[in-house]
Amino acid sequence: MDLGLTDVQRDIRDTARSFIAKEVMPLEPEVLQRERRGEKGITRAELRDLQARARRFGFWGIGTPAEHGGADLPPVTQSLIWTEVGRTYVPFLFGGEADNILYKASPEQQEEFLRPTIEGDRISCFAITEPEAGSDATAIRMRAVRDGDDWVLNGEKTFITGGVEADFAIVVAVTDAELGHRGGHTAFLVDRSMGWTADPIHTMGPSTPASMGFVDVRVPNRNVLGEVGEGFRLAMEWIGRGRYVIPSRAIGATERLLGMAVEYANERKTFGKTIGEHQMIQTMIADCELDLEQARWLVLVAAWTLEQGRGARHEAALAKLGGATAANRVVDRVMQIHGGMGYTSELPIERWYREARLWRIYEGTDEIQRRTIARDLLAGRRRIGGHLA
Ligand SMILES: Cc1cc2nc3c(=O)[nH]c(=O)nc-3n(C[C@H](O)[C@H](O)[C@H](O)COP(=O)(O)OP(=O)(O)OC[C@H]3O[C@@H](n4cnc5c(N)ncnc54)[C@H](O)[C@@H]3O)c2cc1C
Repeated sequence: MDLGLTDVQRDIRDTARSFIAKEVMPLEPEVLQRERRGEKGITRAELRDLQARARRFGFWGIGTPAEHGGADLPPVTQSLIWTEVGRTYVPFLFGGEADNILYKASPEQQEEFLRPTIEGDRISCFAITEPEAGSDATAIRMRAVRDGDDWVLNGEKTFITGGVEADFAIVVAVTDAELGHRGGHTAFLVDRSMGWTADPIHTMGPSTPASMGFVDVRVPNRNVLGEVGEGFRLAMEWIGRGRYVIPSRAIGATERLLGMAVEYANERKTFGKTIGEHQMIQTMIADCELDLEQARWLVLVAAWTLEQGRGARHEAALAKLGGATAANRVVDRVMQIHGGMGYTSELPIERWYREARLWRIYEGTDEIQRRTIARDLLAGRRRIGGHLA
């Protein structure tokens, strides 16, 4: 058993770390100011400029298959890179990527949707959640009815990340109510120009998802993604990726926050000594380190399992649950260690506090991850003892 990084993984991780520190983190004070004014933290032009610079270092399409011009890095390496991205709260991501299920697009769809998305010329969003169907995605009601060469979509989607600015949406709708999610749900590529509406939903964090309305939106049959009836499977595949990317990012944020706490605990004095000398502060620091390391290994095991070409649903559920809950406990303690200063918007802790809360909710809540984990054990799909059983 070797739990260390390879030289290649270390090099890539260090280059990503240095890029984020030199090129992205300097924008942090401006991001805080803009968000305080209710603006977006980073403009599309700034993001594209940063991504173009990152491309020169090879950070382009880290998860994109080589046939589409990507680097197609193995999952563990991708996870390490996402952790570096998570160290900053600038809403940055490396370019050259598309929603993983878009790689299944037909050759014509690749020209119209996939290629421009990879190049950053078009923005996509993924829409399955509805007002009456969140955790239970099998309960969606949006109908798509065949009419000649078109499908006609009617219904509502909600909480769609990027829905306000997206040029097109990957929308999952019901094409056969009797079959339901077992062959009756289909994914469509729907241009904004086809007529859907999007209204922002204001949240406690930096994310402003959209509520999307579809009234008789006509979508040509050639815009079906994959096969008719394959929508639920594609949706689960889309969500599956987030389950190791989200906690990978959470680990980066957690590392940075813990670093801030250690620095502050060594400087701030009360009762004639640094607060780091008080045992209750030491307990919080130790618990943060414990949370961080437990989450890190859960995430790496999930990424490694994918890298072995094995199904990683169980491991990804553990990683998402472990990473999201650990980050939330850590950001709370780090705020506590900073006292009143932690609560102010002078420091980014309160921003991370608001953002991290989302990690326990979207792309499968804590409870849904627990449900997956427990049901796997109860049904005997997983042996107790994990990989070493
Ligand atoms: C900022 C943001 C961005 C989002 N982005 C997207 C997006 O881009 N695309 C998209 O399609 N969706 C998106 N979502 C939707 C998100 O995935 C859902 O909000 C999430 O899956 C939970 O669904 P829900 O809100 O309907 O809660 P519900 O499903 O109504 O759940 C309510 C509560 O009940 C619990 N619960 C539900 N079922 C069970 C069960 N079986 N056992 C135990 N507890 C249970 C839940 O864990 C939760 O605590 C986003 C949400 C937010 C907040």
